[in-house]
Amino acid sequence: MKLDKLHSFAATIVRAIDPELTVDQSDENSYEYADMLVRLNLRDDEDFGFMRHLREVHLCVFADDYSPMLWTILHEVGHAQTEDDFDEDEYAEGLNTKLALACVPPAELRQNVMLQDKYFDTAEEWLATEWAIDYVREHSARCKRWSRILESYR
Ligand SMILES: [Zn+2]
Repeated sequence: MKLDKLHSFAATIVRAIDPELTVDQSDENSYEYADMLVRLNLRDDEDFGFMRHLREVHLCVFADDYSPMLWTILHEVGHAQTEDDFDEDEYAEGLNTKLALACVPPAELRQNVMLQDKYFDTAEEWLATEWAIDYVREHSARCKRWSRILESYR
């Protein structure tokens, strides 16, 4: 099964970066701080504007040199690495934004760039994405290899 291979390889990547984390398959991509658990949706590439945000807002010029799946994995691992980098006010503000956005129908969120940016601009999301960009910059050869393998399992 390709999905099993993909899951197993995604877990290999996560553990290579941070051996304390565990990985589970899910309907959506997320990170659970309390369980140190990365949840990944390996079935589709629905990113609600993440790659666009990476290119246009973070101005990451090498975004498209790597697999969107790798970016997703690194972003979720990034949540674990940046958990202490925002303060309580920033967390509360981000949570309010996310709760408000949770009421928006997915079909609208897929089309509404402004709402997508609101989500990815919260301190928590911003820091996780910046961590992912730094990681790719510092480990480009390894990330290119991982990207190729991830793409081969799709
Ligand atoms: Zn995130």
